[in-house]
Amino acid sequence: MKCPACESEMAVVDLPMVEIDRCGGCGGIVLDKGETEVIDSLGLAPVIEQGVARGGTTRTTAAHCYPCGQDMVALRGAGDIEYDWCAGCERLFFDRGELSELDAFVDL
Ligand SMILES: [Zn+2]
Ligand SMILES: [Zn+2]
Repeated sequence: MKCPACESEMAVVDLPMVEIDRCGGCGGIVLDKGETEVIDSLGLAPVIEQGVARGGTTRTTAAHCYPCGQDMVALRGAGDIEYDWCAGCERLFFDRGELSELDAFVDL
């Protein structure tokens, strides 16, 4: 899969519960919609559900979901975690550092 932010090819990272896609170029992380266990364990469900559109982003271009061919929606959730969400496949993209407060991703 291509990185939504920088178009590098992402690498699959095996975690105990799930596989995630991580970009070696920019450090971004993609969680697929089906990866609900990791979403649950990270407490991301309320983040996702309560996301509100965020004004600015550190990127100059929107994250892009290549499988769907559409731009992702920039959102901000609980705890000020910023992420991008694809309305087509409900994939989530986190820029490097956006998940750093969550222990599971610190040592990736
Ligand atoms: Zn990238
Ligand atoms: Zn998509």
